[in-house]
Amino acid sequence: MNDFRTAGHAAVDLLADYLGKLPEGPVWQAMDPAARERLLTLPLPKDGRGLDELVADIGTEVLPYPMGNGHPRFFGWVNAAPAPAGVLATLAAAAMNPSSAGGDHADVHLERTVVRWIAELAGFPHPPGAGLLTSGASMATIVALGSARNRAARLLGVDVREEGVAALPPLVGYVSAETHSCVRKAAELLGLGGRNLRAVRTDAAGHLDPAALRAQVAADRAAGLHPFLAVASAGTVNTGAVDDIAAIADVCADEGLWLHVDGAYGAFGLLDPLSAHRYAGLDRADSLALDPHKWLGVPVDCGCVLVRDPAELRGSFSLVPSYLRDENAGGLGWFSEYGIEQTRPFRSLKVWATIAASGRDGIARDVAHCTAMARRLGELVDAATDLELLAPVETSITAFRYAAEGVSEELLNRVNQALPVAIQQRGRTFATGTVLDGREALRACLINPAVAEDDLAVLVEEARTVGADLLSNQA
Ligand SMILES: *Cc1c(COP(=O)(O)O)cnc(C)c1O
Repeated sequence: MNDFRTAGHAAVDLLADYLGKLPEGPVWQAMDPAARERLLTLPLPKDGRGLDELVADIGTEVLPYPMGNGHPRFFGWVNAAPAPAGVLATLAAAAMNPSSAGGDHADVHLERTVVRWIAELAGFPHPPGAGLLTSGASMATIVALGSARNRAARLLGVDVREEGVAALPPLVGYVSAETHSCVRKAAELLGLGGRNLRAVRTDAAGHLDPAALRAQVAADRAAGLHPFLAVASAGTVNTGAVDDIAAIADVCADEGLWLHVDGAYGAFGLLDPLSAHRYAGLDRADSLALDPHKWLGVPVDCGCVLVRDPAELRGSFSLVPSYLRDENAGGLGWFSEYGIEQTRPFRSLKVWATIAASGRDGIARDVAHCTAMARRLGELVDAATDLELLAPVETSITAFRYAAEGVSEELLNRVNQALPVAIQQRGRTFATGTVLDGREALRACLINPAVAEDDLAVLVEEARTVGADLLSNQA
């Protein structure tokens, strides 16, 4: 173990230097072609090497080429900087290397606790067993929608686990154009058919329209279909919009639909007192998907699915006959009876460490700081005559575009389409693009609590300078 100790100390020094120096370097840079080639063509080694050499290789061949998301001026997609406590916990979790499928060991009990903590942070009811950690929100969504499908089937008298989806009458679910693609992916995998997810109209700010949902459900019922599911977004990826969950929950209650809330990015936004009102009704959902590996900064991977009724999960995924169930853990059985994975990683330690390092109040402060910075960025955009805010800032995503006066929409679209990558390549900051209402847009997602006003100023400056450059090149 001496090798491990010596190399381990070197590794921690290396990582402390890496994390400490991140803010000084470029946010992202294209890989040096030779370094890229070296990684791509590494031959399978015949003989082994010492741990100290491997640590040195990590330092020279890997760490210099990050994605960029550890940097305070990284605003791309929804990718967090890793919480240092979570990084350390990852090492300890790997050292124990359990399978958190079930049993009586620390990781299993810790997962029960952190799932309860996550539920408490999100203000979601949590009877024991009503959730588990997953690889991400995509997996959480498959688990949630699988349970929704199976409940709908049961109510129609079909045992879909035994008979398969061919035995089902046509089930339809409701989403909006802003719903994340993982919902469709789950519907496809579950045999529901992507076209049976109806996109309900949204308002101008991208919120699913509850009245349109009600009308669509009535029309589909009249056509002989079986509405069973509605998906609300608690923070869309494009603009951070939070649907009117309470109004959607009313429709679901009246119509007997399973309400799934996608809070992968945005659910923890409710910890900001200024934003909390937007999340009214979240606690009425049948299932909630969230991503501790986003706003909480838990190192990837870590998603979480919470459900109202634990029996729906166990009834959907357990293949353990009841007489064989391990009732050791308070009758809850194994996590592998509640989801898809059998051998499961020790995710809970990094969640525990990340939450414990900040406490509830620290997390709430960080979330509130991010939403305040996103609103501030909105103000800076508003104040710049050549930039245009494209959506209200509801959580911590600010969507805007370069829009010099007197330039045609067509030309603006060309400029804004090229803008994100052009900004990324300069390395001062990093934002990604999207399309809103047919308009090419830049979106900045602020989930790193280290972000400061100066960082926002750099983004605004880059958008203006690079936008003007692109315009003059296009014109
Ligand atoms: C990231 C995200 C997802 C997908 O989650 P993964 O963790 O990437 O699987 C789904 N919905 C929203 C709103 C997201 O931001």
